Amino acid sequence: MISKRLQAVSASATLAMDAKAKALQAEGKDIVKFGVGEPDYPTPDHIKEAGIKAINDNETRYTANPGIAPLKEAICRKFEDDNGLKFESNQVLVSTGAKQSIFNSLMSLVDPGDEVIIVAPYWVSYPEMVKLAGATPVVVQTDEDTEFKMTPEMLRAALSPRTRAMILNSPSNPTGGVYERKELEALGEVIAEADIWVISDEVYESLIYDGREHFSILTACPQLVNRCVVVNGVSKAYAMTGWRIGYAAAPVELISAMSSVQSHSTSNASSVSQWAALAALEGPKDPIHAMVKEYARRRDYMTERLLNLPGFTTSKPGGAFYIFPNVADLMGTTISGREISDGDALCDLFLEEAHVALVPGTGFGSPENIRFSYSTSMERIEEGFDRLEDLLSR
Ligand SMILES: *Cc1c(COP(=O)(O)O)cnc(C)c1O
Repeated sequence: MISKRLQAVSASATLAMDAKAKALQAEGKDIVKFGVGEPDYPTPDHIKEAGIKAINDNETRYTANPGIAPLKEAICRKFEDDNGLKFESNQVLVSTGAKQSIFNSLMSLVDPGDEVIIVAPYWVSYPEMVKLAGATPVVVQTDEDTEFKMTPEMLRAALSPRTRAMILNSPSNPTGGVYERKELEALGEVIAEADIWVISDEVYESLIYDGREHFSILTACPQLVNRCVVVNGVSKAYAMTGWRIGYAAAPVELISAMSSVQSHSTSNASSVSQWAALAALEGPKDPIHAMVKEYARRRDYMTERLLNLPGFTTSKPGGAFYIFPNVADLMGTTISGREISDGDALCDLFLEEAHVALVPGTGFGSPENIRFSYSTSMERIEEGFDRLEDLLSR
């Protein structure tokens, strides 16, 4: 009944766990949610007001398919100011979330038989999007030894004559890993030499800690200008996940193709949300700074608590709002009378016995790890870890 294309695609692991947590919550259980993949803050007021104003001004019709002109211009200014990247408006596409930008770029770049290199642990949607576009994901496994980052040697080893593109994500979901400029330069050399494309997902750009600096791979390697898609959005930086605005910048020809995919599937991103996103990009940055400061405090606290949990090892990640500890030492053990065969079983145990919701690493291509999000209040983090400590000491 279902197309072959869809039969190869798995449902989102993050959503499956979320459904279980919601079911327990519906029974009246108090669940501590470390599974969330979005900011716990509300959208800043000046952005909400811009959305309301857009409605009252009747900005409620179709817009130009690639986005309203003032937003595309603001995106060009953002790239120049924050990343030192020069783009013209016709090199920018506004989409229904960064997710759609990535999907549009894959649909426009790959053919059946092509391979797309993905770094594991990866964001759950990358391999599935590659398959939806008809190509084959080639997964490069990384671990704690390289802080979950792909080295030029790993990239080289994964290349084949069929390689068409690779997807890079820094800061990373789920690891929080951040590539340094030198590391990007080294990867860029291999990418240029191999004559492949890079899709750079930079949605966590502004959530970065300890004085680190975010570099776009295109900033580090300007020679990639004709083979790079830079993807970003307002969801994570401005706490705007529900507004659904992301964007991509790339060579004109590719942006035209991506725009065509979009015009035949969803058309323009929400008109109202585009005006709100414009207010976000042009407005004050202090709401971001306040969020980042608080995220950093929670990360410090959570890392400390994680290191005190028996069987958990982790280092302190540099960006995003996730920690991805290794729990291999707990595999094969028995906790609270239950045998822990894998990370999924461990997350089930934590949810059912401690009412703490987490996401197992399986869906991210890293079954020895589990993902903790610190996009929840300090009090809830404290409560969650008290419960986990209690369960693990039984
Ligand atoms: C949240 C997220 C996105 C999607 O962002 P939207 O703009 O809301 O579609 C893309 N990539 C990664 C790694 C994410 O975690």
